[in-house]
Amino acid sequence: MLSNSLIELDRAHLVHPVASWQGHEARGVRLLQSAKGATVTDAEGRELIDGFAGLWCVNAGYGHESIVEAAAEQMRRLPYATGYFDLGAEAPIRLAAALAERAPGDLNHIYFALGGSDSVDSTIRFVRYYWHAKGQPGRDQFISVAQGYHGSTTMGAGLTALPSFHTGFGVPYEWQHKISSHYSYRNPVGDDPEAITAASVAELKAKIEEIGPERVAAFYVEPIQGSGGVLVPPPGWVKAMRQTCRDYGVLFVADEVITGFGRTGPLFACEDEGIVPDLMTTAKGLTSGYVPMGAVFMADHVYETIAEGAGAAAVGHGFTYSAHPVSAAVALEVLRLYEDGGLLENGRKMGARLMAGLQGLADHPLVGDVRGRGMLAAIEMVTDKAKKTPVPAELNAATRLFDRAWEQGLVIRAFANGIFGYAPPLCCTEAEIDAIVERTRKVLDLTLDDPEIRQAMA
Ligand code: PLP
Repeated sequence: MLSNSLIELDRAHLVHPVASWQGHEARGVRLLQSAKGATVTDAEGRELIDGFAGLWCVNAGYGHESIVEAAAEQMRRLPYATGYFDLGAEAPIRLAAALAERAPGDLNHIYFALGGSDSVDSTIRFVRYYWHAKGQPGRDQFISVAQGYHGSTTMGAGLTALPSFHTGFGVPYEWQHKISSHYSYRNPVGDDPEAITAASVAELKAKIEEIGPERVAAFYVEPIQGSGGVLVPPPGWVKAMRQTCRDYGVLFVADEVITGFGRTGPLFACEDEGIVPDLMTTAKGLTSGYVPMGAVFMADHVYETIAEGAGAAAVGHGFTYSAHPVSAAVALEVLRLYEDGGLLENGRKMGARLMAGLQGLADHPLVGDVRGRGMLAAIEMVTDKAKKTPVPAELNAATRLFDRAWEQGLVIRAFANGIFGYAPPLCCTEAEIDAIVERTRKVLDLTLDDPEIRQAMA
């Protein structure tokens, strides 16, 4: 069979990102062969609802002919043009202008990267350059948040605070510091939103004071922590952290790689709190995963300081594929679908339906917490609701849940500690959202019947 030979070729040759290499060799690849709307079809012809939009990226949904056409038209006319030096092409210019027009505040300057990780990496370089240009090169220390994810380039992985991205890789660097997450469900200060925010502000201030205020360059934050388990901060938390950074003159970088492009409701999650960061990173929903692209947004003062600092010299940062015209043409069409095609609006309606549906599972004996905003949600499983006891790590709840959901025709993302996440395409119908919830209920019921889980609950 075709799929069997592919599975063997995969095992022999393809190194999978963020996989257990040994575990993957044993299990083999799960092949997908086609997709349409919010549905993916696997190699056996089984149709599944993609409750995770690929990797929280296919926000527009699969199979939009107009996106394919935009890419094909650009490829036929001008498949590549470098953005190096003074060169350029129409699509990236139009995209930069369209993004600047829609971005919060004065985030008017756009640098295009290839994805999220190199967008984050680019900000680290821009932040360093900014402080050099300001005559404060000693501001070279960076702070981020525990449970955060900022990609897996070497510098970004050091800002990331998930153990598997550190162990054996020699990061974080000594200039990369962390403060605790807001993680409301398991916060030592309890679940009172104001107490959590006050504790985080106090911790950020203490960290800045400990490092030395004149040494801190930037603070990185996801408006909702994604890969750490979809951790939603209390209302006002992001704003309070932004203000603290302003008080100390520390640059505030919002990493909107997941939350951007309608995932939480508005185009950017910073709008939820009415804040304007100094820099902002995006990727994923920018092109809806059809082709790779990331975008770094810079406030006027950041751009102008770097430009003035460099003077006539080149700012030596860029990639061959920065501002790629095909990716830009795709992003322009995706943006049109979000706005004129009604996807943002549909996502807002479906997000409310998804949250209400998942909240309806809160009384299930295995459900400790349901959280999210818009089309971004998670359920945290526990074996004892009163004590919030996590599923024992050796039961590998994540893999069990993923497998069971797949059997039920649902793709979810399983995180460590029995947390599973949802980020469906914004094009989902009501029936698809309801099916996501119902299939989840089935998965939870089946998990409750699992003898090993039962034993852990006893
Ligand atoms: N930043 C955040 C918040 C992310 O969630 C991700 C990826 O999930 C990244 C950065 C890295 O993006 P990429 O995988 O496109 O390199």
